[in-house]
Amino acid sequence: MTEAKNRPIRWAMVGGGRGSQIGSIHRSAALRDNTFELVAGAFDIDAARGRAFGVDLGLDPARSYADYATMFAAEAKRPDGIEAVSIATPNNTHFAICKAALEHGLHVICEKPLCFTVAEAEELKALSEAGGRIVGVTYGYAGHQMIEQARAMVRNGDLGEIRIVNLQFAHGFHSAAVEEQNPSTRWRVDPKFAGPSYVLGDVGTHPLYLSEVILPHLKIKRLMCVRQSFVKSRAPLEDNAVTLMEYDNGAIANIWSSAVNAGSMHGQKVRIVGSKASIEWWDEWPNQLSFEIQGEPVRILERGMDYLYPQARIDDRIGGGHPEGLFEAWANLYRRFGLAIGGTRGVAPEGLEDLVFPGVDAGLEGVRWVENCVRSADAGGIWVEYS
Ligand code: NAD
Repeated sequence: MTEAKNRPIRWAMVGGGRGSQIGSIHRSAALRDNTFELVAGAFDIDAARGRAFGVDLGLDPARSYADYATMFAAEAKRPDGIEAVSIATPNNTHFAICKAALEHGLHVICEKPLCFTVAEAEELKALSEAGGRIVGVTYGYAGHQMIEQARAMVRNGDLGEIRIVNLQFAHGFHSAAVEEQNPSTRWRVDPKFAGPSYVLGDVGTHPLYLSEVILPHLKIKRLMCVRQSFVKSRAPLEDNAVTLMEYDNGAIANIWSSAVNAGSMHGQKVRIVGSKASIEWWDEWPNQLSFEIQGEPVRILERGMDYLYPQARIDDRIGGGHPEGLFEAWANLYRRFGLAIGGTRGVAPEGLEDLVFPGVDAGLEGVRWVENCVRSADAGGIWVEYS
């Protein structure tokens, strides 16, 4: 893989404090390839705890801030102030923090969902475009190398014409009301913090984005969704949902989003069925891609091997046989965010136009999909034109 050639981007975090679920992987991914350097942060809703955490991470105490507004204002006055910020806070805060960051001229890497409504997402997109700033969204599974292989196989016609897209992210961790004990789950089932959906936004948007990467030519025409709250106290938010979708070329898809698939660890699957062959990928076995040609034995393609398409080997760090996982996938994404940010200051390598990463449009599409699913489900599970 290409190592960073330029100085690291001065980077901060909002949220992702001690004990948070997702903060650690952001830091690990951003710092892995020396693309980013952590110089500031406002890590926690509890100011004192957040400032202490920043100091424990090795920050200058003056740059471990009580809150994001103070951080953005103070950093803007420094000649060596932050250039980019990652937002890893509960969903209800993303829009305001992302907007404030863009207004301070920062590049942003935001957790999903980017915000709650399409109108908000369009506002963020307009701001990022007007200021020439990158907005990345951490659909982290897209950094797995076999997703690039799947994309190249579809583009090269290895599957024939695409007919069926079978997606799921269905884990079992919230089969019971674990939110009574777990604060990280509690906000996820409260519309004030989580927004208009639970599992559709929390897990369903992940395989949705993978399908957008692998099948960029397919556009959703209409969809139908039903959603349930099997743990009753979660209503009106759903802990299970099934979505059917039709694309404009006649292909069809389904996405099963669930947190109550008892016994399942993650259960994230992408299966693409073409007229000649199918491929299937599971996030619990990310180094393998099943390639199934009608009438032939199944082939398991392995990460890091010479027989893969070149696009699937760009991020290879160590060669085939050595398992890579979610932390490497996230690092691959952060490296791409770094290249895209570098591109805005004229220091990106050639080939930037081919760089695939979840940007502001991916964030917007995730929000749009949830909005359409909720519209369908709350009208009784009817077909709705995708808008
Ligand atoms: P969490 O509840 O475990 O942690 C949230 C953190 O944000 C805590 O440290 C909290 O103190 C801090 N915080 C809250 N409000 C803040 C504010 N206004 N300013 C500064 N810090 C604040 O939550 P989590 O599970 O880490 O989820 C955070 C976000 O990450 C959510 O949007 C979630 O959807 C997303 N997430 C994404 C993935 C993924 O695969 N991309 C996985 C898990 C979570």
